[in-house]
Amino acid sequence: MRRVPRRGRRPGGSHLIGHRRYPICITTSMTVSIFWFRRDLRLSDNTGLHHALNSNNPVVPVFVFDTLILHQLDNKTDRRVEFIHTAITHLQQQLIALGSTLEIYHGSPIAMFHQLLNKYTIARVFTNNDYEPYALERDEAIAALLHSKGIPFNSYKDQLIFEKNEIIKDDGRPYTVYTPYSKKWKATLSDSHLQSYPITNHFLRQHPLPIPSLKDIGFTGTGAPFPSSQPDKELIKNYDKTRDFPAMAGTSRLGVHLRFGTISIRELVRETLPLNTTFVNELIWREFYFMILWQFPHVGKGKAFKPEYDLIQWRNNEEEFERWCQGETGYPIVDAGMREMNATGFMHNRVRMMTASFLTKHLLIDWRWGEAYFASKLLDYELANNNGGWQWAAGSGCDAAPYFRIFNPTLQTKRFDPQLEYIKKWVPELNELSYPQPIVPHEQARERCLKAYKKALDRS
Ligand code: FAD
Repeated sequence: MRRVPRRGRRPGGSHLIGHRRYPICITTSMTVSIFWFRRDLRLSDNTGLHHALNSNNPVVPVFVFDTLILHQLDNKTDRRVEFIHTAITHLQQQLIALGSTLEIYHGSPIAMFHQLLNKYTIARVFTNNDYEPYALERDEAIAALLHSKGIPFNSYKDQLIFEKNEIIKDDGRPYTVYTPYSKKWKATLSDSHLQSYPITNHFLRQHPLPIPSLKDIGFTGTGAPFPSSQPDKELIKNYDKTRDFPAMAGTSRLGVHLRFGTISIRELVRETLPLNTTFVNELIWREFYFMILWQFPHVGKGKAFKPEYDLIQWRNNEEEFERWCQGETGYPIVDAGMREMNATGFMHNRVRMMTASFLTKHLLIDWRWGEAYFASKLLDYELANNNGGWQWAAGSGCDAAPYFRIFNPTLQTKRFDPQLEYIKKWVPELNELSYPQPIVPHEQARERCLKAYKKALDRS
């Protein structure tokens, strides 16, 4: 989901949805632990939940539909919200079967904790680490509130195999190049990093609380299916051969599950390591970009990883940007990608690279515009990966393509969609007069880009 502006927002109120329909006889003298679900929406192999359930007190699982995030979403049929809602519904069914319930709030996290503090005597609060700038600020505020009441806030690594500074160079500095990072990642990996965190039923026994509808929180759903959370073993086995061809169903589509924690990264690595190392390499790219966001937080705050790239004079032509967004550039592979994302919330990785390169290099439009557009559309939107991908394409990122390497959309099409299968699916009017002429000739765009980049880099 889109980032939340960092300043000038004050937390609003929060209410426990459905509280009135199911009054619960709970007194504040009951001492409990709280487990706060965020982007770890599963019961199985959940590190923070495992520790909560092994603590001394019965556990109250909670979730908040965070209005500080939801109010930022202009699209009230945003499928990420529908995905979360589906995942929460599933969690609730599992918890009810265990004789417990999820307490679901709608408001700001801080307001939720004020309510929880009124309702229970809280021994400890458990959760899993979240690394994005908004999440870090949020957790700091919650931890401060809890500490002021003498309540520990325990947060665990769960969404990554290695986080923060666990994989660093021998001299203690962070890696900025993927290949040596991935070598160290693999050399460090042992069975203990892939161990499972099973759960015991030490939840507080409560009457079930109802799930709010999407409408209750200001959204509507489409009911369209989401990708499966089960890795397809045959697909993974062939991943290195199929992953580059957008017309094939050759990638896992697990991005959204990794984003919201509806699968465990430990289970996924355990399962896929023997099947295909190329696939695991992609999971390591994900960890690499999370590490970059952690070690170089300026990238998550709208800055180029390499500061000299912030000197580029972008053209930022709004009409051209709109044509790119709508898939009307006259470059079929670019248009197919944009139309696929607009229609489905997914775009193939190879095409993400081409469309991003086209925006930044052919059109000389600031990568931050493209980053924000992808953030608003992708079902699997992940700040660290999206930022990493955009800065890679723009040349401003760590381990990025050199700026003078400019994708030629025609040659890329010949290599990766030679039968035009992918293009024809999304641009059926390809051979009709209605299909636009190229927005800019390739050679002219190339020269213009080289000049603009060179000028900026010569100034630095
Ligand atoms: P698979 O190919 O099956 O890979 C499995 C998982 O590995 C992915 O789900 C993802 O978690 C991880 N992964 C794969 N490729 C990469 C990569 N290059 N960098 C980091 N992690 C990777 N990925 C996102 O998860 N969210 C984003 O918002 C996002 N934005 C991107 C923007 C641009 C401009 C580019 C070039 C890439 C972006 N990616 C992003 C990376 C990649 O395109 C997607 O992870 C991938 O296409 C998702 O499809 P999949 O789940 O079928 O992936």
